[in-house]
Parts: sequence; structure tokens; C-alpha cells
Amino acid sequence: MVSSIDSSVGTERKVVTELPGPKSRALHERRQAAVSAGLTTGFPIYIERAHGAILQDVDGNQILDLGSGIAVVSIGHAVPELIDAVSTQVAAFTHTCFMVTPYQGYVEVCEELNALTPGTHAKTSALFNSGSEAVENAVKIARLATGRQAIVVFDHAYHGRTNLTMALTAKNMPYKDRFGPFAPEIYRVPMSYPFLDGRTGAEAAALAIQEIETQVGAHNVAALLIEPVQGEGGFVVPAEGFLPALSQWTTKHGVVFIADEIQSGFCRTGDWFAVNHEGVIPDIVTTAKGLAGGMPLAGVTGRAELMNAVHEGGLGGTYGGNPVATAAALATIKTMRERNLLQRARELGDVITASLRALQEDVAIIGDVRGRGAMIAMELVMPGTKLPNAAAAKAIVQYCNQQGVIALSCGTAGNVIRLLPPLVITDEQLADGLGVLADATRAAS
Ligand SMILES: *Cc1c(COP(=O)(O)O)cnc(C)c1O
Repeated sequence: MVSSIDSSVGTERKVVTELPGPKSRALHERRQAAVSAGLTTGFPIYIERAHGAILQDVDGNQILDLGSGIAVVSIGHAVPELIDAVSTQVAAFTHTCFMVTPYQGYVEVCEELNALTPGTHAKTSALFNSGSEAVENAVKIARLATGRQAIVVFDHAYHGRTNLTMALTAKNMPYKDRFGPFAPEIYRVPMSYPFLDGRTGAEAAALAIQEIETQVGAHNVAALLIEPVQGEGGFVVPAEGFLPALSQWTTKHGVVFIADEIQSGFCRTGDWFAVNHEGVIPDIVTTAKGLAGGMPLAGVTGRAELMNAVHEGGLGGTYGGNPVATAAALATIKTMRERNLLQRARELGDVITASLRALQEDVAIIGDVRGRGAMIAMELVMPGTKLPNAAAAKAIVQYCNQQGVIALSCGTAGNVIRLLPPLVITDEQLADGLGVLADATRAAS
């Protein structure tokens, strides 16, 4: 149908004005009068169109996107299959509310989620609008199904910005500060963070479990909620064995294991889900970000006996599983399969990791290079220590931006640079972006 992609967007990074350019600056003036100051933007260039891994701004600059809008457009910008699916659906109907009159796309996305998430047990799903909303609903379901209240979360965790998910999120600034009071019955325990704690997965799990058992009591715990690779918290990959040990403990004590795969899921780590790398089978999986190629959609998928324990009408929302968003998700999943983006994510990860490790030999501020698949980060430190170097991260992001590259920082201490390129980025584009990142890192050290 519509599948004309905008061929006016080039395939190369090209900076033609100062950044931000004059048109972006003018829009920024207007924005400051119109948009709440509570929303800030890392790089205020205003985007007009995009294709693949390139964003084109209103001043005609072509920007290389190494962030995918925070792990969302994994299949790339302006994918023809997605444009077709969304356009066709918009013309057919845009909304009925699934709780009023249903439609096929919602059912099909749930079928895909049930099939793709780990484990062959019977599963059902429910769809929502945002990652935070999915996490909230996973917690609601776990509490109802277990009749227990306590939720265990981890240091450095990020689960969202709504009231319940603020409580689940670890970092105060900017997410929580003065926004309380927060929801009760949330307990935080230590995360496995190999670079900083030096513990094996078994040791780190034993420590977390000991804290849960002494401070909460296993029989009070409804759910253990964890990001299998932490996102905003710094791309922390727990030591091998940590997730399996926690999973075994939850099974033994009737605790619901919720994997928050909102950032790590859907090809990002080189598998459909990050838990697959260690064969962990969660009871509930939350998904969003990469799921629908940029349309707002989130999922909660879990064991049928948990998901179906909820009373009739207990779950829902006006827009959840919107037909346009579900059409986008089906096109996204199809694209991931057809373009073998699992494999591509692993290849990208190998290239990025090799490049950052080589850089680490040259500069004293890279303490650690870590991640899985196309979810790779470097942790910046004060030379000769493991102390966080947030100033370097900031300088690197700014340098990259000035060169027309979007790079994102993360980490509880703000000292981690994370790479989340669209999985369709070309080898040439990636090499170009890594070159700029290397220059930025050398300049900052
Ligand atoms: C982004 C994110 C969320 C929140 O998703 P929103 O759509 O921003 O509400 C929750 N968990 C993780 C792991 C995330 O990365």
C-alpha cells in the first residue's frame, strides 16, 4: 500500500549547520514557553523524518542514531512493512476499546507473546500502553494470585515513573525526588554487579536471598521483579548463575519471578529475551519498547494460572492494545524474523565490544565494557580506580552530539555510556559512530 519510504533521508551522517541549527533553536524557544520545564531533552535538535539509523532534523542535518529512542526502534526508522501495517490499520479503524468490542490484532499479539516468551507452559497475556503500566499490572497480578503483598526489587533498578513504579525504581534524582509518598511493601536488595562487587553469581544470589529471608520473609513475598540486564541502572549484567539461583528460590517459595524485559527484550540482546542466555523461565515477563517499532504498546505475559486468577474486569484500560499499535507490533515481530535481527544483534554486539575493548587499552577512564548483543555499555571511572566519572560520560555524550551522533548515558552514578543502535544499522554507519565515540572518549580522558 503506502510503502514508499522517504528517500530524501540519506544513509550517512552529515552535519550542515551548527548543532542545534537555527530552526531547531527557534523551535526550542517556542517549546520553552509551551512545554513543562520538567521535561528535559538531551539533544534539542528537532526531528523531521528518519530512515534506518539516520534522523534528519529541521535544519537538514543527518544524525546517526545509536540510541533507537531508548531501545524502541530496534527494526530501524521508517520500515516499509511497519508503515504499511500501520497505515492499513489507521484506514480500517483506530480504536474500539478492547473491553467494549475486540479485534483480531490484539489476540495475535498475545499469541506471539505467549509463543516467544520462554517456557512451553500455558500462558496468557494482556496489553497496555507503556512499560510502567505493564510493570504495575504484573505486580497487581502477582499480588492477587499469591495473596501476598511484598515485592522485591534490586539496587540500580529502573521500572518506570508512575507512583508504584517510582517506588520500584532505585534512583532518586531525577525520577523520584519530592514526588512521594511512595507505595508501601517494596523491598530493595543488592544486585549482582560483577565490576563493582566482585562476587560470583551464586554469592550475590545468596546475599540477596539472605536479605529477603531475614528482612521480609519468603512467605510474604508476592514477586521478585528484576531486569535480566539492567537498562537505566547502567547495563549491569549479573554474574552468571545469579538469575538461575534467584529463579530456583522463587519456585521453591511460591514467589512470582517477574522478568522486566522492557529494555532487554525483543532481539536487543541477541535473543528474544535476555533471560534466555541463562535458560531462566520467568513466571511473568513484561515487554514494551522494542515490541512495536515506536508505537506505544506494552505486554504482560505469564503463566495462565497466574494471569487468569484475576477476576473478570480486573485488568484493562481505555487504550491498552490499541489496534494501530498491535498492527505495528505484528509487523515488527515479522520484520525481526525475516531480517534475522537476533543474529544481527549478536554481530553488532561483537563489533561494538571489540571496538570498546580496544579503546579501553588506550584510555584510563574506561573501567568496564559489558552487555549482551546490541545492548553494550562502557562504565567510566576516575583513572586507576572504580570511582564513577560522570563528568566524562557527559563530555562524551556532548562531543558525540556535536558530531551528529546520538549516544546515551545511564547508570545510577550517570557514568555509563550505552549503545542501543537500531539493529538495521549498516556496518559503515556503525564504524562511523564507533569512530566518533572513540574520538569523544579520547578527548574526555
Ligand atoms: C523504559 C523502562 C520501563 C518503563 O517504560 P515506560 O514505557 O517508559 O513507562 C520499565 N522497565 C524498564 C526495564 C525500562 O527500560
